[in-house]
Amino acid sequence: MRISRRGLIGAAGVAVGSPLAAWSSAMPASGSSAGSADVIIVGGGYSGMAAAHQLVRAGKSVIVLEARKRVGGRAFTQQVPGGGWVDNGAQWIGPAQTRILALAREFHVKTFPTYQTGKSILEYQGRRVEFSGLALEELLKVPIPPQDLAEFALAVDKFSRLAETVPSAAPWTAPNAAGWDSQTVATWMNANMKTAGARFLFTTAVNGYFSVEPADFSFLHFLFYVAAAGGFETLEENSLAWRFNGGVQQIPDAIAARLGDAVKLCSPVRCIDQTGSKVVVTTDNGQYEGSRVIIAMAPPMAARIDYQPILPASRDQYTQHLAMGSTIKAHAVYRTPFWRAQGLNGQILTQSPVNVTYDNSPPGGTPGILVAFFEGDPAREWADRPEAAIKAEILRTLVNYFGPRAARPEYYYQVVWANEEWSRGCYCGIPATGTWTEYKDALRTPVGRVHWAGTETSVEWAQYMEGAVASGQRAATEVEAEL
Ligand SMILES: Cc1cc2nc3c(=O)[nH]c(=O)nc-3n(C[C@H](O)[C@H](O)[C@H](O)COP(=O)(O)OP(=O)(O)OC[C@H]3O[C@@H](n4cnc5c(N)ncnc54)[C@H](O)[C@@H]3O)c2cc1C
Repeated sequence: MRISRRGLIGAAGVAVGSPLAAWSSAMPASGSSAGSADVIIVGGGYSGMAAAHQLVRAGKSVIVLEARKRVGGRAFTQQVPGGGWVDNGAQWIGPAQTRILALAREFHVKTFPTYQTGKSILEYQGRRVEFSGLALEELLKVPIPPQDLAEFALAVDKFSRLAETVPSAAPWTAPNAAGWDSQTVATWMNANMKTAGARFLFTTAVNGYFSVEPADFSFLHFLFYVAAAGGFETLEENSLAWRFNGGVQQIPDAIAARLGDAVKLCSPVRCIDQTGSKVVVTTDNGQYEGSRVIIAMAPPMAARIDYQPILPASRDQYTQHLAMGSTIKAHAVYRTPFWRAQGLNGQILTQSPVNVTYDNSPPGGTPGILVAFFEGDPAREWADRPEAAIKAEILRTLVNYFGPRAARPEYYYQVVWANEEWSRGCYCGIPATGTWTEYKDALRTPVGRVHWAGTETSVEWAQYMEGAVASGQRAATEVEAEL
């Protein structure tokens, strides 16, 4: 059992030539511009790299333009000196996420289960308990009144049944789409949960899934998100199940290694002009030309690029209705996972700004690593504060729950995602009320020779790396059909 905020609710063939020939064709053809290729892919995250991988296997040439000095985007791994790694962005995958697992197999990246052995800590209204499992005797220890737990379970059951009626490929066609899209998640929560305990649990789950607050976004979107994951049960079983041994950035790194010079790092794209015979993509380092372009990033980031001609109103307004969530993610690295000896699994759920932590140690348990999150409002509140103040708050929280040994990590890492120039937030762009029913599939409808990827455009596992891979593959298939 975990008390994860995400898990809470659930608890209630190469077309042309050989593969090698195809890979070599990824190299840009010579021309007057800095480079040209069949397809220019903007963004080297999971979606962009998955698109590039598929297109090259189909014998198309590609150039990937990436603003950062690394690929991976919101998947960002750093090595810990002396052993181990930290995933500063995405980290969890699960058995139903078949696309990313196929890539993992291809690139020999192994999975391992999230550490779950031992007791979790829950602190609510000043009362702290250690508990494990969902057995009644364990639930009775929880300092949330039984009637609040019961109300939460009933509301989740109702929510789950509503999500089953939402087709993820077209949520605007759901039976009560207009009604659900006209209310925020908070409106629905307040109408269906009257107790503080139920609202605390539901809000914590929302923070975990979306990194925003229930008042920020469309209730229809929450239903879509669950439907896109195949329902609550699948979501619960997969969203925190496994990790990649060595970190999530290995797959985009491996694809980039195969692509070689076709990946242009430190190349922010500023303008995309499709008024001529080729689509011209302008970066800080020169211009590139392609027959087609795939924009592979979060829509709010795509909206910062200049398009000629300007984008249709539906596409542009859609992006204006999506806001990036806010997360601060930090890792404290210790010589050993000392909390395990105390019978703890590293998981806390509290009402403090740093409200969830997990054991993020590598499979062998050395070094010991705790990961901590600020999500939603606390992340917004703390994002502009000095890094040292954020670190002090995180270590104070870890000491509070795991004891004085937590005060002195050997290494410490933190990323304030809203301050990342090429992400400006996470986990994803989240639509406000009215967006789905007003703009429908404008987010993934190609505009001329420009195609759209990015996990937000996926109808399966949207907001996850799996969704990013699915979106990249879908955009690649669209482009293949046109070339
Ligand atoms: C803290 C955190 C925790 C997460 N946890 C999980 C998890 O446990 N499991 C999970 O599945 N998902 C998780 N996610 C979400 C996951 O990271 C994303 O769904 C996925 O990585 C998105 O991939 P993408 O290719 O769509 O976008 P991105 O990864 O954002 O890739 C877009 C790329 O475009 C680049 N770019 C932006 N603008 C430009 C420009 N103008 N020119 C050129 N390049 C540009 C960016 O630098 C970036 O590399 C998490 C994310 C974060 C940040």
